[in-house]
Amino acid sequence: MRASVSIQPILPFGTAVKGLPRLIEALADACRDAPLEEKALIAQSRFVGHQLIEALARSGTPWVHLRVESVRSLAHSVAGPEIAREGLTLLSRAQALALIEQACAETLAPGSYFGELAERPGLHRAIQNTFDELRSAGISTAELPEAAFGDPQKARELKRILTAYETALERGRFVDRAGVLRRAVDALRKSPPPPGPLHLLAGSFELSAAERELVDRVSGGRLRTLEEDGPERWKPNAAGTHLFRALGEENEVREILRRVLADGVPFDDVEILATDAVTYGPIVYELTEEHGIPCTFGDGIPATFTRPGQAALGYLRWLGRDFESEELRGVLAGGLLDLSRVANGGEPPGPIPAARELREARIGWGRERSLEALDRHVARRKIEVETARPRSEEDAEDLATRVGWLQERLVNARAVRDLVRRLLELAPEGSDPVELRAVARSASAFVAGFARIAGEADAMASSALQGLFGELETLPVTRLPIARASARLADAVRALHIGADRPRPGKLHLGDYRNGGYSGRSHTFFVGVDSRRHPGSGLQDPVLLDEERRGINARLAPQELALRGGRPSENTRAWKACVARIRGDVTVSYPSWNLLEAREQFPAASYLEVFRLATGRGGADYSDLDRGLDAPAGFLTRPAKALDETEWWLSRVQDPVLSGGRAAPAVRSAYLWLADGFTAETARESDLFTVWDGWIRDPAGLDPRTSGDPTSCSRIQELARCPYSYFLKRVLKIQAPEDASTDPTVWLSPMQKGNLLHEVFRRFYADPPGAVSRPRFDRDFDRIKAIALEELERWKRKIPPRSDAAFDALREDVLVACRTFVLREETHCRDVLPKWFEVGFGPSRDSTDPPGGPDPVSISLGGGEAFQLSGRIDRVDEESPDAYQVWDYKTGSAWDTSDPTRGRGGRRIQDALYAQALEILLDRAGTPGRVVRSGYFYPGRRGEGERWAAPLDVAATRRTLTSLFDLLRTGAFPHTPNPKDCSICDFGKVCGTAELAAARLERKLENVSGNPVLDPYRILNPS
Ligand code: SF4
Repeated sequence: MRASVSIQPILPFGTAVKGLPRLIEALADACRDAPLEEKALIAQSRFVGHQLIEALARSGTPWVHLRVESVRSLAHSVAGPEIAREGLTLLSRAQALALIEQACAETLAPGSYFGELAERPGLHRAIQNTFDELRSAGISTAELPEAAFGDPQKARELKRILTAYETALERGRFVDRAGVLRRAVDALRKSPPPPGPLHLLAGSFELSAAERELVDRVSGGRLRTLEEDGPERWKPNAAGTHLFRALGEENEVREILRRVLADGVPFDDVEILATDAVTYGPIVYELTEEHGIPCTFGDGIPATFTRPGQAALGYLRWLGRDFESEELRGVLAGGLLDLSRVANGGEPPGPIPAARELREARIGWGRERSLEALDRHVARRKIEVETARPRSEEDAEDLATRVGWLQERLVNARAVRDLVRRLLELAPEGSDPVELRAVARSASAFVAGFARIAGEADAMASSALQGLFGELETLPVTRLPIARASARLADAVRALHIGADRPRPGKLHLGDYRNGGYSGRSHTFFVGVDSRRHPGSGLQDPVLLDEERRGINARLAPQELALRGGRPSENTRAWKACVARIRGDVTVSYPSWNLLEAREQFPAASYLEVFRLATGRGGADYSDLDRGLDAPAGFLTRPAKALDETEWWLSRVQDPVLSGGRAAPAVRSAYLWLADGFTAETARESDLFTVWDGWIRDPAGLDPRTSGDPTSCSRIQELARCPYSYFLKRVLKIQAPEDASTDPTVWLSPMQKGNLLHEVFRRFYADPPGAVSRPRFDRDFDRIKAIALEELERWKRKIPPRSDAAFDALREDVLVACRTFVLREETHCRDVLPKWFEVGFGPSRDSTDPPGGPDPVSISLGGGEAFQLSGRIDRVDEESPDAYQVWDYKTGSAWDTSDPTRGRGGRRIQDALYAQALEILLDRAGTPGRVVRSGYFYPGRRGEGERWAAPLDVAATRRTLTSLFDLLRTGAFPHTPNPKDCSICDFGKVCGTAELAAARLERKLENVSGNPVLDPYRILNPS
């Protein structure tokens, strides 16, 4: 198809314009030489071609009958009618890739040359590129010479994959890009075209053998190659170059925007050319979006930068991970979904409330579980509304507010349930494997129905995604495990770019330097000219090594494949050619610091060359370059160059005069949150213990000695481990969300596994009562095993495992623990008789028969002080009629027994307290007795059956408890001084760096006279 002919209204035709790129001059010459003749300008892409004729027009050279073509468009115009006649479908890159994946799956056996990599997306893409090259070079499957390969098996495998791919094309009546080119060349060979327009080849860009033939044949001998500025002409331009460096890629782009704005350069007079568009594209997109700067992107922007793109990825992960609710929750919380369809005519829930309802439904994963859990959750929310009664401190207005809030939660829970139901209806039916096209259909319906659109880019992405999934729907039936099908589609989503465009009026432009410098803009910025990116590595193509390419070229000349080892020098040539064709201001920059990895980055050799030319110091080396450059551009700049308000304020604060005086307080008075943060950080940095470190001034009701509220051993041990975490959890009542494990190889959390084992051990002795008294491994292992298997099944029904492997691993762990348990019990019970199990005491404990009961026990601390304790003793053994042992099962490792310190500042106090509690319970039951031993039994795999019991020391226990409760009385909740405690804490994100928190506390503990409130903590943790 021919492009429409544009006419510039400036006549008559002028003379050559000075100072233009050579290519534009040559194009102008061609237009002058054949002003009224039809001309086709063949450029490396249509984008480049249009830039050239626009630049020609801007130069004042009139033209007429000039149209733009690319090799691809020429091939389509030649082969298109035949393709249409035969009813073939043109294949997109994504569709072709899916067929190659299928060809690999069909042909690669385990143990074959590529067999181990058969499922890797990287291999499929590499094979696709290589096949494109082979087919574009006109090399057919049959021609591929085995003798060119070091390993003939590799050649045979490549032939098999290529044959399978070509068979799939034929069967599906598809034609790919290389097929179009081949058909066009064949057609031209058969019937040369009649005399046509004058063809103008825009410079000497890279053409494969088949492309070259197409250009030669289509032009029918009327081909004129336009001269361009070759790379050797780059020096004059480079001599006037500006140079800078920046702290990271983001600051590189910030600095460019600052310069453009500060100098008042029109956006459409600026082109940014990157050595690495994958990195710089997203940065330029984010910064231009943030600052409202219109911008075009030569390579487009990744669809994953938009809401529909992110939503599609989340949805595919949800499908692929067996409907794991956490994946969907992320999509909801990110505001990526349009919930109006589940709002039932009302206000749709906000992203965060909706995500909260999904989390609180505690689904975990699984199609059936999702709706069951949500049904239960909605029922719970309904009961909350229906049973809401006034609380003692509530008046009618407060009650109405609370009920309104509960009703809102119920509405939100229903909306989320409705959403999940609809999404499950969209999901492919049936069990694994599924049809790839069914997953594509489902993803397309999801994007169309639920992905939120909040801007032009979102709208473009939504339609591009539906187009992509639609293409994949048309492929032949391929059945895959749903996890792989989802991953395959997610890969296609990641590769999708939207909105690729050429430079447009009023807009900044970002492009790749290989296709850049044609816009004729007078300000060009080259970014990413560092040694890591430019000129790139000479890494070989993993599918066809250079040695093999040489062998193929030697045997099949004139057909020829490019050598990959020569890429760096080609890139250097392309870069210099780009500099050479630019007229106007050139700035070259590199990121001198890697912000993510916190390490230095170095300039490319080309950057040093530019420096030498720009400074006239031909002998300059890298040290001269380092000394000759200004300090790297960072997040701080001069006020006059500030990109936005934040940068302006930062620039004021860094001013040495202002920051010591007015600026910092001015910032803090403008931003009260910053002022609070500043006060808090200053206080924490000081050697005084303050409210910002965890000292509350109204601790009434926290000390169990005076409140009368029962406390538990786990609470006391939490307080001992880290008072600050106790404050967050028990005083502020902050809870970390309890998410189901996302690891498909793990079933049940450590706590759930512990509960399961506790029940197995209880039932072993007590179900029915007296079932076993003196265990023997040879006789009783089968019994405990049967109980364990029953319990495992019970948990399996409650929480289905993600995989057989996860279930088997836990089953194995449980059986190992049972085996260890019975073996150790056989020895242990020679001297004692297991007597009572799971002895509960205190309210909210499911109390057992005596000696347990619903009342807490009162533990004396001496001096008339006492507190109420509730709890549950796992096991009581009778040593003699009035002497007992107390044991607590620990199903984890026995690491803490290696620390001989009795109690470890209260971190291990349960054994001592339960010993006292049992004596009180025995008294209460009228059967007084003494506890002679109290400790822990570790039957789990990591505990290796160890038992640990320290001598009981009532006085030491009282001293420890008194110090701990003194902290509660004074409201002092310091951070733990031991960073190891933080490794098992949920509040790491609240505290930041554990080492920093510990170091600050050390300083405050050392200030003995300044911080008497920390005296109890000094007693507990002597230095
Ligand atoms: S992260 Fe460390 S300092 Fe912070 S609350 Fe947890 S244990 Fe305490």
